[in-house]
Amino acid sequence: MIDLIVIGAGASGLMGAYAAASSGLHVLLLEKNPKVGRKIGISGKGRCNLTNNCDEKTFIDHVITNPRFLYTAIHLLPPSKLMGLVEDHGTKLKTERGDRVFPVSDRSFDVIDALLDMVKKSGAKLRCNTTVQHVEKTDNGFLVDIGREKLFARCVLLSTGGMSYPATGSTGDGYRFAKAFSLEVNEPLPALIPLVSDDPMCRDLMGLSLKNVVLTVSDGSGKKIYRELGEMLFTHFGISGPLVLSASSYVQAYLRKHQLTFETAKIKACVDLKPALDAEMLDKRILRDFEKYHLKELTGAMNDLVPHRLIPKLIALSGLDPRKRADQITKEERMRLGRTMKNLVIPIKGSRPLEEAIVTNGGIAVKQFSPGNMMAKNVPGLFAAGELLDIDALTGGFNLQSAFATGYAAGLGAADFLQNRSE
Ligand SMILES: Cc1cc2nc3c(=O)[nH]c(=O)nc-3n(C[C@H](O)[C@H](O)[C@H](O)COP(=O)(O)OP(=O)(O)OC[C@H]3O[C@@H](n4cnc5c(N)ncnc54)[C@H](O)[C@@H]3O)c2cc1C
Repeated sequence: MIDLIVIGAGASGLMGAYAAASSGLHVLLLEKNPKVGRKIGISGKGRCNLTNNCDEKTFIDHVITNPRFLYTAIHLLPPSKLMGLVEDHGTKLKTERGDRVFPVSDRSFDVIDALLDMVKKSGAKLRCNTTVQHVEKTDNGFLVDIGREKLFARCVLLSTGGMSYPATGSTGDGYRFAKAFSLEVNEPLPALIPLVSDDPMCRDLMGLSLKNVVLTVSDGSGKKIYRELGEMLFTHFGISGPLVLSASSYVQAYLRKHQLTFETAKIKACVDLKPALDAEMLDKRILRDFEKYHLKELTGAMNDLVPHRLIPKLIALSGLDPRKRADQITKEERMRLGRTMKNLVIPIKGSRPLEEAIVTNGGIAVKQFSPGNMMAKNVPGLFAAGELLDIDALTGGFNLQSAFATGYAAGLGAADFLQNRSE
């Protein structure tokens, strides 16, 4: 009889199968797609930011949902160990800005090749083009129904991923499998996702990217949910870019905690275009430019201050006359312009849909699993790992690292569970 059937050959399933088979288990890894790791293939814009070259604490600090659940898993497979494994299996790695780790080749497929090599050498068997329909408990293990056949195993690892980018294979099947075991599944929601605004300014500024700005996201009462310096982008539906993706994860966690929606919480984003200058310093800076270009109309006098396309918006939002010459602008008008530059408000009405999210917020509630071995507390022999669990992290390699670490912990956990039971 098979010791462990792993359902889903993404990051967590490949690592889980490797860890279990390396510990002596007879493992079968099932994947619905013709090839493994389709999501790894598109990750990091095809370059695969597979982990972050950081210590365990820094990793935990970048996990948004249920970070403490990952203490043991990240200790079992920290980034350094993951990097060592991938390199030992033929794919050289490099560390870039923000400690993001990529293959030297910049080809995500080289990471998949290394993982496949690990699985192959561990002795785990792989079957692609195999969609698991359903899983149930039997007297001495589990029945795994793959349609044309029924398979039996002593243990099962659910590693079917979340619900984003369903074309990669992660269509939420694992939630269904978990519910059949009466496990609680928190509503899957989009995280690391662009935000949507009705403000026509976003569409007008579509394609404009802002660097070195501070983005603050708050609710209607003014409570700050997120504040960070970085880069963002206007799009035809709202805002995107690194700052916005991170902000979306914090907002999603906030809304979930308080059982609110974007609309009931009245979420708004504020952009500080000149975060390095306080109001007084900014006014001096504007005054300097207005003196330099004193004969120009306001629009022309602001060219050195902000990106050209923003100028008419800032002037309109400050209630100024664009035809006025720079030397006709009063101090009060200048101060108004400065205030707008430091507080460009964008009302947010929601996010893009889950299918477009980098990661799923929500999933199988982790309280039902032991963090040491990823086994369901009430279903001995049933394990879960990866994005299927209610875990999500920021960008930077933390989501893949989380999937690898939980998969690894589950693989070792299954081996430990079976070996201790048979002693
Ligand atoms: C566009 C994009 C870019 C990303 N870039 C990065 C990045 O650079 N760094 C980072 O850390 N994270 C990144 N992520 C997130 C990261 O890729 C995921 O969090 C991670 O792949 C999740 O791994 P997983 O094993 O849980 O699930 P998945 O990788 O989704 O794997 C699940 C597997 O299960 C299979 N499966 C599902 N149902 C069944 C079934 N019924 N029977 C058989 N097989 C089944 C699926 O086909 C799939 O292969 C990115 C995500 C996206 C969408």
